[in-house]
Amino acid sequence: MAVFKPENVEDFYELGEVLGSGHFGQVRQVRERASGTSWAGKFLKIRKNACSRLGLDRSSVEREVEILQAVQHPNIVTLKDVFESRAEVVLILELVSGGELFDFIAEKENLLENEAIDFMKQILKALTFMHSKNIAHFDLKPENIMLSDKVSPHPNIKLIDFGLAHLFYQGEEYRSTSGTPQYIGPEVINNEPLSTAADMWSIGVITYILLSGLSPFQGDSDEETLKNIIAMKYEFNARYFSTTSSMAKDFIEKLLVKNASERMTAEECLLHPWIKPITRKQAANRNRSSINMKNFKRFNAKRKWKMSYNMVCMCNRLVNLKLLCKGISTTDPGPLQRQCESDTEDTESKPASLLRRRLSSSS
Ligand code: ATP
Repeated sequence: MAVFKPENVEDFYELGEVLGSGHFGQVRQVRERASGTSWAGKFLKIRKNACSRLGLDRSSVEREVEILQAVQHPNIVTLKDVFESRAEVVLILELVSGGELFDFIAEKENLLENEAIDFMKQILKALTFMHSKNIAHFDLKPENIMLSDKVSPHPNIKLIDFGLAHLFYQGEEYRSTSGTPQYIGPEVINNEPLSTAADMWSIGVITYILLSGLSPFQGDSDEETLKNIIAMKYEFNARYFSTTSSMAKDFIEKLLVKNASERMTAEECLLHPWIKPITRKQAANRNRSSINMKNFKRFNAKRKWKMSYNMVCMCNRLVNLKLLCKGISTTDPGPLQRQCESDTEDTESKPASLLRRRLSSSS
């Protein structure tokens, strides 16, 4: 078990710019005072008491820390240190400065399947490693696939955000309906026992989007998206997949399989001819096929716009709730105020747990 240091993080690290925000706090660039090295500090709000809904249980943070310590791999963000105060835990993480993979790709004029496969291979290697340790990520989506740096022409993949990850113990039955609607498998929606295969479904969705700029199950609302997933309603529309190789479609088809036990594993994916061609013809096909860049750019722009919009909505809701709490405190400093202080979380009544991560989603 990692040591949660009780010291003040600011005694050791100087706080810098905000790099991103999640449901439970902010990620900021921090500079280690002793060495001058830059890191990312993930500040997570901790629940003040069992009845409060704002913040995370300390046990969830312990789980994230335990998993990060177990998944030391070149394509997974590294955890350096953990600090704890009364209200928050700060994870000091490797600074991943290359931005999101999807943004990097969207800046290109065109991209051959071959080049996209280089990135896919790194993601699959990270997953093979994690899954061999019985750890599933359970929140794979473009926002959580980042690149090591901005300077190298071939940056490395870094998977981030292990907040929903789970370490399976032998024979354990684990269910969870958390995740982001566009990327979750049918077994998540149906609240069935989960396995590492749920990550492979998400890889199928991400690959589909990467090649076509279309999201396979996206509906006009989250409810419709979830219905499409359950109904396995997707197709390779020729308009969007005209430059895609048949091997790539076969790869996706073997991942978007309803029965989780019949899906390709990450290890099997690495041996699929689209990733590891056996014949010259297969290798040549990958060099001739390309991703649908025009539509991919459109998808990515829309995704970024929705992320910003969701963030503004979340900030507005927090401000309103804080104002409400202040108003109540002047007239009634009783239990209601305590509730407000800690209950400023989004309380939409849609498929509630599925929307837990909705504010960072692009659905
Ligand atoms: P969510 O509620 O979306 O799941 P979270 O609270 O679990 O979020 P993360 O997803 O880990 O937080 O981080 C939020 C954002 O901060 C990321 O999308 C990314 O932009 C940025 N970020 C996270 N970790 C790092 C890192 N190690 N280096 C650089 N930026 C990071």
